[in-house]
Amino acid sequence: MTSTVLPEAAEVRNFCGGAWIRPRVERTHAVHNPSTGEVIGWTPMCGAREVDEAVRAAAMAYASWSRTPVPRRAEALFRYRALLEEHREELSRLITRENGKTLEEARGDVKRGIEVVDFACGIAHLSKGESLHEIAPHIDGLTMREPVGVCAGITPFNFPAMVPMWMFPIAIACGNAFILKPSEKVPFTACRFAELFQEAGLQEGVFNVVHGGRDVVDALCSHPGVAAVSFVGSSPIARHVYALACGHGKRVQAAGGAKNVLLVMPDAEPDATLRAVMSSAFGCAGQRCMAGSVLMAVGETADAVRDQVADAMARLKVDDTSANDAAEMGPVIDGGARQRIRSEIERAVEAGATRTLGDGDRALPPGFFIGPTLLENVSPDMPVFREEIFGPVLAMLRPATLEEAIATMNRLPYGNGATLFTGSGHSARQFARDIQCGMVGINVGVPAPMAQFPFAGWNGSFFGDLHVQGSEGVQFYTRQKVVLSRWDGSYRPQQGW
Ligand code: NAD
Repeated sequence: MTSTVLPEAAEVRNFCGGAWIRPRVERTHAVHNPSTGEVIGWTPMCGAREVDEAVRAAAMAYASWSRTPVPRRAEALFRYRALLEEHREELSRLITRENGKTLEEARGDVKRGIEVVDFACGIAHLSKGESLHEIAPHIDGLTMREPVGVCAGITPFNFPAMVPMWMFPIAIACGNAFILKPSEKVPFTACRFAELFQEAGLQEGVFNVVHGGRDVVDALCSHPGVAAVSFVGSSPIARHVYALACGHGKRVQAAGGAKNVLLVMPDAEPDATLRAVMSSAFGCAGQRCMAGSVLMAVGETADAVRDQVADAMARLKVDDTSANDAAEMGPVIDGGARQRIRSEIERAVEAGATRTLGDGDRALPPGFFIGPTLLENVSPDMPVFREEIFGPVLAMLRPATLEEAIATMNRLPYGNGATLFTGSGHSARQFARDIQCGMVGINVGVPAPMAQFPFAGWNGSFFGDLHVQGSEGVQFYTRQKVVLSRWDGSYRPQQGW
């Protein structure tokens, strides 16, 4: 097939049982270069028929892949890892083109994904069981981890490489077959992943891609041949996927949206804190589930923090990321997102917030851009404090103390991340203990765990039990078998009864 890397590539096909398939669909979704608004492809909006084809192909591959010796599975991932490394820059540019994030951010997207492949290459060690001899007279006990079957991954637009790679390297290493349903807004990186698996010689049918939206998601969540569903996206859809797939007896991990707070204490180191706040709030144009979207500055430090942040925002280079590698902030994903974010800003202003900086303060390129926006005079009862906006919008509050700040943060319905900037070990310890969310940063603006740790959202940011990544990922994609054996003197070779 035509490589999806080529700029003129516009056709998006499914990858099923090792073959590229042009689905016969009635609907397509226009894929844009968000920096320019130009249409760069059409995602076929598939449905239950294409899902069924993929599940059949995956189930057939599973029969032998699950029996493939563990080191042989790891070898396939080592080969894949080498190809990802070789094509790292090209993948990064592809992401910039279909997602709009800056080249540096796209490189980070690929890097963090490759780290999960590194992790999964250690599957021989990671999937070892336990054993205990003489658990009773002449009886030994042991556990083994076995794959679960056909696994599905449903992913959002904001990390076209990293989020799918939170899932499929571990699932495949564990001996499962995998069906990826990428966001219809960014289909090309997923296609490229499939091409590289082909080149790596992965057994056909072990990795499959089906494109589309709700119809594919619902078909995957209800298909009897799917054993496990991993989802990452917004909270309403995460809740829907969790309920539907659990209702069909599948194991499910569903990560949702977030509202993450950056809390600055008077004793924080100013320069490092400013850099971290800017990168957290405006990196990926605020379209990260770990983006800091609320800034709290405690006590007398608030005015200085506000002035420094506003100054840095005014200097941020917002530009077409596909043409300018030095752009510091890109566009949001599409026209719908831009309109929604603008409406949220207007709603906040109507509710009493003050827009200190925003659209209109600078000339913007023609794509789906929004000027970095600072909202002040925000109170905890306003929707802009409680609801995810998912754009380059920072809402500022001024709590009097650390305790007040923590109490306010714990009212948020989400539970992904929170960061404290401080020079005090005591404050850091109190914050880490008292904050009600799963990923805590101390002087780290984006406390997104590396591949060895789970991506541990809480509350409205996660539905399920075992999170993606790390040892929880291995547990999710395997089930345990416990074997008890008795070999004492009474068991001897016999002729039969
Ligand atoms: P989204 O929820 O709109 O879409 C996610 C996936 O669900 C896509 O594959 C999409 O095709 C599918 N989908 C969309 N509408 C659906 C419906 N009605 N029924 C079934 N499936 C549907 O999310 P998005 O806009 O692509 O991504 C942004 C969201 O993802 C944000 O809320 C962000 O916080 C979240 N996110 C969370 C994490 C995390 O780890 N918690 C990581 C990245 C992104």
